[in-house]
Amino acid sequence: MLTQTSAPDEDLMSLYQEIILDHGKNPRNRGIVEDHTCISEGRNPLCGDRVTVTASIDDSNIRDVRFDGKGCAISIASASMMTESLVGLNRDQATQIFESVKSICTEDTANSQRDSQISEKLNQRLEKLMALSGVRKFPVRVKCATLPWYAFMSCLEGKSTATTEIASWPRP
Ligand code: ZN
Repeated sequence: MLTQTSAPDEDLMSLYQEIILDHGKNPRNRGIVEDHTCISEGRNPLCGDRVTVTASIDDSNIRDVRFDGKGCAISIASASMMTESLVGLNRDQATQIFESVKSICTEDTANSQRDSQISEKLNQRLEKLMALSGVRKFPVRVKCATLPWYAFMSCLEGKSTATTEIASWPRP
């Protein structure tokens, strides 16, 4: 388990940076899920990011998630990491991960993923997503990092679009 302090050590931050760079350069699961059951587009006018998320959800289990679109390295890296972390989860678990990612990107504590309500399976996935915590230092990047996640949640809820220009968006 990764521990988070108010001043994360530099080794950890550079590891996080490497993970983001890797996903930004070599995004996983890019494209469209052919037999998708939902599709949603996320837009972040502030940065110009546009991400289309498609997913195939079967009896409430997420079978496949892909993303397409263009945007800054953070939005692409986050989308890539997201697609890897959601497959095999059910709707409730995906929602839990989404809520935890919002905390990872905005709060200076990482208690949410240690919540006893969160299973070991989710904890393992969240450990990788901790790499997104680097955006906390750059408030304008928070929308970039969370955009694909909002798009996925819209997809899950059967809505076709998600935009960063909505009231419930996390404020830096
Ligand atoms: Zn961006």
